[in-house]
Amino acid sequence: MSSLAKTSNGGERPRLLHESALPIVDSVADRSFPPTSLATLPIIEPTPELLSELAKVSASLETASPQDILQWAVERFGDRFTMATAFGPEGMTIIHILSEIAPKTPIFNLDTGYQFPETLALRERIKERYGIEVEYKRHPLSVEEYERLNGGPVYRNEPNRCCADRKLSVLKEAARGMLAWASAIRRDQSPDRAVAPIVGWDKKFQLVKVSPLANWTKKQVWGMITSLDIPYNPLHDAGYMSIGCWPCTRSVSLGEDERAGRWSGTNKTECGLHTQD
Ligand code: SF4
Repeated sequence: MSSLAKTSNGGERPRLLHESALPIVDSVADRSFPPTSLATLPIIEPTPELLSELAKVSASLETASPQDILQWAVERFGDRFTMATAFGPEGMTIIHILSEIAPKTPIFNLDTGYQFPETLALRERIKERYGIEVEYKRHPLSVEEYERLNGGPVYRNEPNRCCADRKLSVLKEAARGMLAWASAIRRDQSPDRAVAPIVGWDKKFQLVKVSPLANWTKKQVWGMITSLDIPYNPLHDAGYMSIGCWPCTRSVSLGEDERAGRWSGTNKTECGLHTQD
Protein backbone atom coordinates (compact mmCIF):
# COMPACT_ATOMS: atom_id res chain seq x y z
CA MET A 1 0.00 0.00 0.00
CA SER A 2 1.32 3.44 -0.96
CA SER A 3 2.10 5.84 1.88
CA LEU A 4 0.16 8.51 -0.02
CA ALA A 5 -3.59 8.81 -0.61
CA LYS A 6 -5.47 10.91 -3.17
CA THR A 7 -7.39 14.02 -2.08
CA SER A 8 -10.66 15.23 -3.58
CA ASN A 9 -8.88 17.77 -5.77
CA GLY A 10 -6.53 15.19 -7.27
CA GLY A 11 -3.58 15.94 -4.99
CA GLU A 12 -1.89 13.60 -2.56
CA ARG A 13 -1.71 13.55 1.20
CA PRO A 14 -0.17 11.24 3.78
CA ARG A 15 -2.31 8.17 4.36
CA LEU A 16 -4.42 8.77 7.45
CA LEU A 17 -4.63 6.75 10.61
CA HIS A 18 -8.13 5.64 9.77
CA GLU A 19 -6.92 3.89 6.66
CA SER A 20 -6.05 0.97 8.85
CA ALA A 21 -8.97 -1.39 9.41
CA LEU A 22 -11.44 -0.63 12.17
CA PRO A 23 -12.45 -3.62 14.25
CA ILE A 24 -15.87 -4.06 12.76
CA VAL A 25 -17.46 -7.47 13.05
CA ASP A 26 -19.33 -8.09 9.84
CA SER A 27 -21.25 -11.30 10.24
CA VAL A 28 -22.92 -11.27 7.05
CA ALA A 29 -24.26 -12.80 4.08
CA ASP A 30 -27.27 -10.53 3.67
CA ARG A 31 -26.39 -7.18 2.07
CA SER A 32 -29.83 -6.22 0.85
CA PHE A 33 -31.36 -2.89 1.88
CA PRO A 34 -33.26 -2.98 4.09
CA PRO A 35 -31.79 -6.19 5.51
CA THR A 36 -34.22 -9.05 5.64
CA SER A 37 -33.02 -11.06 8.58
CA LEU A 38 -31.89 -9.90 11.99
CA ALA A 39 -29.71 -12.99 12.28
CA THR A 40 -27.57 -11.94 9.36
CA LEU A 41 -27.19 -8.25 10.16
CA PRO A 42 -23.70 -6.82 10.35
CA ILE A 43 -22.64 -5.83 13.81
CA ILE A 44 -20.51 -2.96 14.94
CA GLU A 45 -19.50 -2.98 18.57
CA PRO A 46 -18.16 -0.07 20.62
CA THR A 47 -15.10 -1.92 21.86
CA PRO A 48 -12.36 0.16 23.51
CA GLU A 49 -10.26 -0.49 20.39
CA LEU A 50 -12.99 0.83 18.09
CA LEU A 51 -13.60 3.92 20.24
CA SER A 52 -9.89 4.67 20.35
CA GLU A 53 -9.57 4.19 16.60
CA LEU A 54 -12.57 6.47 15.94
CA ALA A 55 -11.03 9.17 18.12
CA LYS A 56 -7.80 8.96 16.12
CA VAL A 57 -9.67 9.00 12.82
CA SER A 58 -11.68 11.99 13.94
CA ALA A 59 -8.56 13.91 14.95
CA SER A 60 -6.89 13.08 11.64
CA LEU A 61 -9.92 14.39 9.73
CA GLU A 62 -10.26 17.66 11.68
CA THR A 63 -8.87 19.72 8.82
CA ALA A 64 -10.07 17.49 5.98
CA SER A 65 -12.65 18.75 3.48
CA PRO A 66 -16.24 17.45 3.69
CA GLN A 67 -15.52 15.64 0.41
CA ASP A 68 -12.55 13.78 1.92
CA ILE A 69 -14.47 12.97 5.10
CA LEU A 70 -17.35 11.52 3.11
CA GLN A 71 -14.94 9.70 0.80
CA TRP A 72 -13.41 8.03 3.83
CA ALA A 73 -16.85 7.04 5.13
CA VAL A 74 -18.09 5.54 1.86
CA GLU A 75 -14.85 3.61 1.37
CA ARG A 76 -14.84 2.38 4.94
CA PHE A 77 -18.50 1.41 5.32
CA GLY A 78 -19.60 0.82 1.74
CA ASP A 79 -23.28 0.12 1.34
CA ARG A 80 -23.71 0.15 5.12
CA PHE A 81 -23.16 3.91 5.21
CA THR A 82 -26.38 5.88 5.17
CA MET A 83 -27.66 9.40 5.63
CA ALA A 84 -30.75 10.88 7.26
CA THR A 85 -31.79 14.25 5.92
CA ALA A 86 -34.41 16.85 6.79
CA PHE A 87 -33.46 18.65 3.55
CA GLY A 88 -31.78 21.54 5.37
CA PRO A 89 -29.02 23.53 3.66
CA GLU A 90 -26.31 21.40 5.24
CA GLY A 91 -28.07 18.19 4.23
CA MET A 92 -28.48 19.45 0.69
CA THR A 93 -24.77 20.22 0.59
CA ILE A 94 -23.92 16.68 1.69
CA ILE A 95 -26.35 15.20 -0.84
CA HIS A 96 -24.63 17.24 -3.55
CA ILE A 97 -21.23 15.87 -2.54
CA LEU A 98 -22.55 12.30 -2.28
CA SER A 99 -24.06 12.64 -5.76
CA GLU A 100 -20.51 13.13 -7.01
CA ILE A 101 -18.64 10.52 -4.98
CA ALA A 102 -21.21 7.87 -3.99
CA PRO A 103 -24.65 8.47 -5.53
CA LYS A 104 -25.91 5.04 -4.47
CA THR A 105 -25.60 5.89 -0.77
CA PRO A 106 -29.00 5.13 0.80
CA ILE A 107 -30.49 8.45 1.94
CA PHE A 108 -33.71 8.74 3.89
CA ASN A 109 -35.98 11.36 5.35
CA LEU A 110 -37.85 10.91 8.63
CA ASP A 111 -41.28 11.86 7.41
CA THR A 112 -43.10 12.73 10.61
CA GLY A 113 -46.27 13.68 8.74
CA TYR A 114 -45.80 17.26 9.94
CA GLN A 115 -43.26 18.52 7.41
CA PHE A 116 -43.87 21.64 5.31
CA PRO A 117 -44.97 21.02 1.69
CA GLU A 118 -41.92 23.09 0.62
CA THR A 119 -39.69 20.61 2.46
CA LEU A 120 -41.33 17.59 0.85
CA ALA A 121 -41.00 19.19 -2.60
CA LEU A 122 -37.22 19.08 -2.20
CA ARG A 123 -37.31 15.30 -2.48
CA GLU A 124 -38.56 15.68 -6.05
CA ARG A 125 -36.03 18.39 -6.84
CA ILE A 126 -33.23 16.09 -5.64
CA LYS A 127 -34.53 13.34 -7.88
CA GLU A 128 -34.61 15.67 -10.88
CA ARG A 129 -31.21 17.20 -10.24
CA TYR A 130 -29.21 14.18 -9.08
CA GLY A 131 -31.29 11.12 -9.92
CA ILE A 132 -31.23 10.23 -6.21
CA GLU A 133 -34.42 8.93 -4.59
CA VAL A 134 -34.58 9.89 -0.97
CA GLU A 135 -36.60 7.25 0.84
CA TYR A 136 -39.30 8.29 3.29
CA LYS A 137 -39.22 6.49 6.63
CA ARG A 138 -42.38 6.78 8.67
CA HIS A 139 -43.97 5.83 11.96
CA PRO A 140 -46.44 2.97 11.42
CA LEU A 141 -49.33 5.20 12.52
CA SER A 142 -50.44 8.07 10.31
CA VAL A 143 -50.73 11.50 11.91
CA GLU A 144 -54.50 11.08 12.08
CA GLU A 145 -54.26 7.67 13.79
CA TYR A 146 -51.52 8.88 16.15
CA GLU A 147 -53.46 11.97 17.21
CA ARG A 148 -56.69 10.01 17.60
CA LEU A 149 -54.95 7.48 19.84
CA ASN A 150 -53.43 10.25 21.94
CA GLY A 151 -56.45 12.51 22.22
CA GLY A 152 -54.98 15.21 19.96
CA PRO A 153 -51.64 16.53 18.76
CA VAL A 154 -48.88 15.24 21.04
CA TYR A 155 -46.50 18.03 19.99
CA ARG A 156 -48.58 20.56 21.94
CA ASN A 157 -47.97 19.18 25.41
CA GLU A 158 -45.34 16.47 24.98
CA PRO A 159 -43.01 17.45 22.13
CA ASN A 160 -40.27 15.18 23.47
CA ARG A 161 -42.56 12.19 23.21
CA CYS A 162 -43.76 13.26 19.79
CA CYS A 163 -40.14 13.52 18.53
CA ALA A 164 -39.27 10.21 20.19
CA ASP A 165 -42.18 8.49 18.48
CA ARG A 166 -42.12 10.11 15.06
CA LYS A 167 -38.38 10.65 14.61
CA LEU A 168 -36.14 8.70 16.98
CA SER A 169 -37.95 5.38 16.87
CA VAL A 170 -38.19 5.66 13.09
CA LEU A 171 -34.46 6.35 12.74
CA LYS A 172 -33.65 3.40 15.00
CA GLU A 173 -35.61 1.15 12.70
CA ALA A 174 -34.19 2.74 9.54
CA ALA A 175 -30.66 2.27 10.84
CA ARG A 176 -31.05 -1.50 11.26
CA GLY A 177 -28.24 -3.21 9.41
CA MET A 178 -26.24 -0.01 8.92
CA LEU A 179 -22.77 0.58 10.33
CA ALA A 180 -22.49 4.35 10.02
CA TRP A 181 -24.59 7.42 9.27
CA ALA A 182 -23.89 10.93 8.07
CA SER A 183 -25.23 13.84 10.01
CA ALA A 184 -25.40 17.41 8.74
CA ILE A 185 -24.70 19.17 12.03
CA ARG A 186 -22.31 22.10 12.39
CA ARG A 187 -20.51 22.78 15.65
CA ASP A 188 -21.40 26.47 15.61
CA GLN A 189 -25.16 25.79 15.51
CA SER A 190 -25.64 25.31 19.24
CA PRO A 191 -23.80 24.50 22.48
CA ASP A 192 -25.13 20.92 22.21
CA ARG A 193 -23.46 20.50 18.82
CA ALA A 194 -20.23 22.34 19.68
CA VAL A 195 -18.58 19.16 20.94
CA ALA A 196 -19.53 16.91 18.03
CA PRO A 197 -16.57 14.94 16.68
CA ILE A 198 -16.03 14.53 12.94
CA VAL A 199 -16.29 10.78 13.48
CA GLY A 200 -17.58 9.26 16.69
CA TRP A 201 -19.66 6.56 18.26
CA ASP A 202 -23.36 7.27 18.41
CA LYS A 203 -24.55 5.49 21.54
CA LYS A 204 -28.18 6.21 20.90
CA PHE A 205 -28.30 4.57 17.51
CA GLN A 206 -25.34 2.17 17.93
CA LEU A 207 -23.66 3.43 14.78
CA VAL A 208 -20.57 5.35 13.78
CA LYS A 209 -21.67 8.94 13.21
CA VAL A 210 -19.88 11.04 10.61
CA SER A 211 -20.34 14.81 10.61
CA PRO A 212 -18.51 16.13 7.54
CA LEU A 213 -19.67 19.72 8.06
CA ALA A 214 -18.90 19.91 11.78
CA ASN A 215 -16.20 22.50 11.16
CA TRP A 216 -18.06 24.48 8.53
CA THR A 217 -19.87 27.76 9.08
CA LYS A 218 -23.27 28.77 7.81
CA LYS A 219 -21.49 31.12 5.40
CA GLN A 220 -19.47 28.26 3.91
CA VAL A 221 -22.59 26.13 3.46
CA TRP A 222 -24.53 28.91 1.73
CA GLY A 223 -21.46 29.82 -0.32
CA MET A 224 -21.43 26.31 -1.76
CA ILE A 225 -25.20 26.28 -2.30
CA THR A 226 -25.06 29.58 -4.16
CA SER A 227 -22.00 28.87 -6.25
CA LEU A 228 -23.18 25.40 -7.33
CA ASP A 229 -26.87 26.23 -7.53
CA ILE A 230 -27.75 23.45 -5.09
CA PRO A 231 -31.51 23.19 -4.48
CA TYR A 232 -32.70 24.54 -1.12
CA ASN A 233 -35.92 25.07 0.77
CA PRO A 234 -37.60 28.33 -0.36
CA LEU A 235 -38.78 28.89 3.22
CA HIS A 236 -35.22 29.98 4.02
CA ASP A 237 -35.87 33.07 1.90
CA ALA A 238 -38.91 33.82 4.09
CA GLY A 239 -36.94 33.96 7.34
CA TYR A 240 -37.08 30.30 8.32
CA MET A 241 -33.47 29.67 9.22
CA SER A 242 -33.79 26.15 10.60
CA ILE A 243 -36.74 24.13 9.39
CA GLY A 244 -38.34 21.18 11.10
CA CYS A 245 -41.99 20.21 11.44
CA TRP A 246 -44.47 23.04 10.82
CA PRO A 247 -46.06 22.95 14.31
CA CYS A 248 -42.64 23.45 15.92
CA THR A 249 -40.99 25.93 13.55
CA ARG A 250 -41.34 29.68 13.13
CA SER A 251 -39.42 32.25 11.15
CA VAL A 252 -36.74 34.22 13.00
CA SER A 253 -35.98 37.92 13.10
CA LEU A 254 -32.71 39.58 12.26
CA GLY A 255 -30.21 38.99 15.06
CA GLU A 256 -31.97 35.94 16.49
CA ASP A 257 -30.11 32.66 16.78
CA GLU A 258 -30.55 30.51 13.69
CA ARG A 259 -32.30 27.79 15.71
CA ALA A 260 -34.44 30.19 17.76
CA GLY A 261 -37.46 29.31 15.63
CA ARG A 262 -37.42 25.65 16.65
CA TRP A 263 -39.78 24.74 19.53
CA SER A 264 -39.96 28.46 20.22
CA GLY A 265 -41.32 29.33 23.67
CA THR A 266 -40.29 26.00 25.19
CA ASN A 267 -36.98 24.87 26.66
CA LYS A 268 -36.65 22.17 24.00
CA THR A 269 -33.80 22.84 21.57
CA GLU A 270 -33.16 19.47 19.90
CA CYS A 271 -35.36 16.67 18.64
CA GLY A 272 -32.97 14.18 20.24
CA LEU A 273 -31.33 12.79 17.11
CA HIS A 274 -28.07 14.56 17.94
CA THR A 275 -27.98 14.29 21.71
CA GLN A 276 -26.63 11.28 23.56
CA ASP A 277 -28.95 11.36 26.61
FE1 SF4 B 1 -43.57 16.26 16.73
FE2 SF4 B 1 -42.72 18.80 16.62
FE3 SF4 B 1 -41.00 16.79 17.04
FE4 SF4 B 1 -42.14 17.14 14.66
S1 SF4 B 1 -40.69 18.52 15.69
S2 SF4 B 1 -41.88 15.19 15.70
S3 SF4 B 1 -44.21 17.80 15.27
S4 SF4 B 1 -42.66 17.49 18.40
